Amino acid sequence: MSHHPTDDVRLSFHGADRAVTGSCHLLDVPGHRILVDCGMYQGEHDLARDNAAPFGFDPASIDWVLLTHAHLDHCGRLPLLYKRGFRGEIIATGATRELARLVMLDAAHLHEEEAGRRSRRSARRGGKPVEALYTALDALNTLDTFGRVAEYEAPLRLAEGLTVTYRDAGHILGSAMIEVELHHPHRRRLLFSGDLGGPGHPILRDPAMPTPVDDVVMESTYGDRDHRALKESVEELYGAVGDTIARGGNVLIPSFALERTQELLYFLRRGIEQDRLPRSLPVFLDSPMAISATEVFRRHPECYDAEAAVLFANGGDPFRLPGLQLTRTPEQSMALNRFRGGAVIIAGSGMCTGGRIRHHLRHNLWRASCGVIFVGFAAPRTLARAIVDGAREVHIFGEAVQVRARVYTINGFSAHAGRTALLAWHEHTGRARTFLVHGDPDRGMNSLAAALKSRGVAVTCPEPGSSVVLS
Ligand code: ZN
Repeated sequence: MSHHPTDDVRLSFHGADRAVTGSCHLLDVPGHRILVDCGMYQGEHDLARDNAAPFGFDPASIDWVLLTHAHLDHCGRLPLLYKRGFRGEIIATGATRELARLVMLDAAHLHEEEAGRRSRRSARRGGKPVEALYTALDALNTLDTFGRVAEYEAPLRLAEGLTVTYRDAGHILGSAMIEVELHHPHRRRLLFSGDLGGPGHPILRDPAMPTPVDDVVMESTYGDRDHRALKESVEELYGAVGDTIARGGNVLIPSFALERTQELLYFLRRGIEQDRLPRSLPVFLDSPMAISATEVFRRHPECYDAEAAVLFANGGDPFRLPGLQLTRTPEQSMALNRFRGGAVIIAGSGMCTGGRIRHHLRHNLWRASCGVIFVGFAAPRTLARAIVDGAREVHIFGEAVQVRARVYTINGFSAHAGRTALLAWHEHTGRARTFLVHGDPDRGMNSLAAALKSRGVAVTCPEPGSSVVLS
């Protein structure tokens, strides 16, 4: 696809269209091309082919990438964009830049491992080596293209008559919604919501409310439902931890490294301070990625909400518990097998598809005294989903393991706004023309579209690869 030479302002959709992952939206303005996010497709199927497919535009023609936040499904294809010729400037908040570094390097490492495995298999059949989607070097080169650091609410001038403003999206540390203001060929304001957080979560501020715009590209993940109140979920967490410790077992919490882990540490610390949990409770954070991400959180108090900021300013650390131990090395992780009971172990991956949690499940899942607490989404056909759905036996590392531990599923910790909050947020756009992305059509997307249409809003749920001229 060549760069269109007209004076049109054109919006095209190259990811997270009628789907929840792979966010990638292209905005063509006269003389310039702007990409908003470049995320990985993730999910139950092998999406390697989708991720490796052509972008649908020439990466070398992109002037700027505006990155909303550091989740893999928003930044995970940036190193591929670089590999295929992108040499423009990536603009993100300071916290997003640091978290995206962790996320992209981790992904590159997994791609290299996967390519190595497939190459060895191929070699045994006399075939050719398999190339990694991208390597750690591609990720490092991509980091060099991160340019200006966006500060919340401070307009950045990209070119004559072209300004962008990042505003807090309250989703994960550093997350932003991005407003683009154009003065040529006509004055026009567009808003990309990124992923929107729910109100009332600790550490982060609530999402900023938009001001009226002409067009909005908006996420719709939970457009069909509201989450259970966070307060109830925190009570459930304290109950599950307390009961398991009282039974003499270990508590396992499979968790995502960004945000969810820090939120858990925050609530565990508060539970100990409020004497809801034993003061000496040993808590192991057994994930190098989550440990690094927690360090990034500590370096960015400018992103905190009022409560966390006061705590931090008074010398407190929102993530430090008396019994917290960070286990970075595999040896430290394996040493945790000695604990027969009384410990909380937080480890990735959140859906138990990989990572250290699988070792801990093998050692604890068959013991009735133990507890496993699920605090996040479990996709179909994952180990997490099998356990949540009540499997009596699962296979871990090729070995049958009985599920006798008590399983707790706590639903209120979502980093996404629910339906009521999404509708309230949209209200502030002034009935802007709306493009819904980042949602499952059968769930959040169509439901939110219907609600917005009933309020007189013009709504589209774009097809993958489609584009529209804005005028
Ligand atoms: Zn996200």
